[in-house]
Amino acid sequence: MNKYDVLKHYFGYTKFREGQESLIDAILNGKDVLGIMPTGGGKSLCYQIPALMFRGITFVVSPLISLMKDQVMSLKSANVPAAYINSSLTYPQLLKVYDNLRAGMYKIVYIAPERLEADGFRDLASSLDISMIAVDEAHCVSQWGNDFRPSYLKISRFISSLPKRPVVAAFTATATELVREDIMNKLDLQSPFRIVTGFDRPNLNFEVHSPRKKKDMLLELIRKRHNKSGIVYCQTRRNVEKVCDFLNENGFAATRYHAGLDDSERYMNQEDFVYDRKNIMVATNAFGMGIDKSNVSYVIHFNMPMSLEAYYQEAGRAGRDGAPADCILLYAPSDIQTAKMLLENSDYPEDADEEFIELQKTLDYERLERMIAYCKHTGCLRGNILDYFGEEHVEKCANCLNCRAIFVDRDITVEAQKILSCVKRARDRLGFSVGMALIVRTLHGSRDKRIGELGLDKLSTYGLMKGESKHLTNDIVNHLCELGYLSKDTEYGSLILTDKSNEVLFEGVAVTMKYKEEDKSEQSAKSVQSQINSDEGLYEHLRKLRMEIANEQKVPAYIVFNNSTLADMAAKKPLDMHEFLCVSGVGEQKAKAYGERFIKAIGEYIH
Ligand code: ADP
Repeated sequence: MNKYDVLKHYFGYTKFREGQESLIDAILNGKDVLGIMPTGGGKSLCYQIPALMFRGITFVVSPLISLMKDQVMSLKSANVPAAYINSSLTYPQLLKVYDNLRAGMYKIVYIAPERLEADGFRDLASSLDISMIAVDEAHCVSQWGNDFRPSYLKISRFISSLPKRPVVAAFTATATELVREDIMNKLDLQSPFRIVTGFDRPNLNFEVHSPRKKKDMLLELIRKRHNKSGIVYCQTRRNVEKVCDFLNENGFAATRYHAGLDDSERYMNQEDFVYDRKNIMVATNAFGMGIDKSNVSYVIHFNMPMSLEAYYQEAGRAGRDGAPADCILLYAPSDIQTAKMLLENSDYPEDADEEFIELQKTLDYERLERMIAYCKHTGCLRGNILDYFGEEHVEKCANCLNCRAIFVDRDITVEAQKILSCVKRARDRLGFSVGMALIVRTLHGSRDKRIGELGLDKLSTYGLMKGESKHLTNDIVNHLCELGYLSKDTEYGSLILTDKSNEVLFEGVAVTMKYKEEDKSEQSAKSVQSQINSDEGLYEHLRKLRMEIANEQKVPAYIVFNNSTLADMAAKKPLDMHEFLCVSGVGEQKAKAYGERFIKAIGEYIH
């Protein structure tokens, strides 16, 4: 079989995605490779196809047990002889895998890096015909990345201990040049063929919102997507608990995941989500790497993450199967405070010296600033992300909230004058500065006890903005801080006038703010829906059948067929085996296993 036959026979696809073919060709020509592709870009196929064509065995080094399990389950469902070696195996199970390896029964074996140097394994490996070592999540070898794993340093030692050096193929979704160089060095790649494919994921819709009440907005977003699978990321464990309870109280099937739960609960909750028993996962960033669930339709960030890299990685867990999906970030200025607190309390390796820690801190703060800039960006959100990865792009992507919304420059000079004047008068009266909440309440004429106690209701600016939106006033105060017309005391957060304030108060300088006038996100949600569900009713019908089969076979639904395949099926409506095999994602094995039932269901539906 040639590479195209393998692609169709095992995986059911007829076309390679960007970068896949050239990586596969290089590997088949015996060259080391470094493939940098975004999450969901299709990295696995780049090593799985050559692995199936090579004479010997391929070992895939992977950092997480859950990832291996998922990949092996997927391969087996396509009739590929595969196994994994990690700490989840019992001793007898491990011996069985070793026996099968000796007997040449596998083509692909996933292995945890710490196992490479185990005596039993090293001896066994020396006697095997190993064609390739593929390294997944290769950025884990670099301490410059955000996921350094010391056990990855064992990989190159292991490779050099083999009697014959196999092809080494490394893959990652992390893009910085520093990390790429480090991967090549630490894995000792020999003049590798390198490819960085586009980081753009056109099927993802990006949105940033700053709602007054995040929970209300979350509920609204999830209601619109009630039968879909999604992840809600929170910054802290406490928030995970609160948000998960809140969703459950409102009747949604949500489960939770964070590092504070014990192993068995984490495992159980993850399985509930992966098997679609619960369709919402509320989690910290501890959840996700290695979760290969391809039918995640949305990722909502309830809080701002710490870096754009982390955001793109987490948000990128939506729509891995290529179906349209939403990445929505709910931002509030208080997220910045929490992020800074988390950075101040981060853990560093025990043997790290001061210089290393200083450098890491500086990098962390730079990453955070860049993340904040994304949240406040008024131009194309996708473009903003692609800029970060150094990738060219069109000016407006048409698939993010900002490209759909209309921003207008609004003159806020009068509001700015009222606010600055209130800050000044409060300070003059009290002899100390107060925070944003009191200033806004004073301007809005609040009857709050504290306002009365401090005598802020006696100021001439009291009630000056009554009847206007408090949310807008808050936005304007934040905007004035950004422009330097106000500053916030670092210790107490009180608002202080700056040298520039007089320009607005007395010198007639005009202030403007970009204001989102029209939000057409609803419209986009609908058009996305019609794209997925070529025949919505039939898609639902097939989804139910997929769930039924998944339950019978005790595998996650996406292992049977992913959402893209189901949507293509609902569009093509195959009525015989020949037509069924033309559906994208249907290979020989799956056609044999499920074809008849799906064809029958389609026949019944359309007649
Ligand atoms: P990554 O490891 O890069 O995050 P995966 O290898 O898990 O991505 O692939 C993501 C999804 O894309 C999977 O559902 C896979 O079946 C699908 N896929 C990969 N290559 C192709 C292709 N050439 N055509 C269609 N779908 C593909």
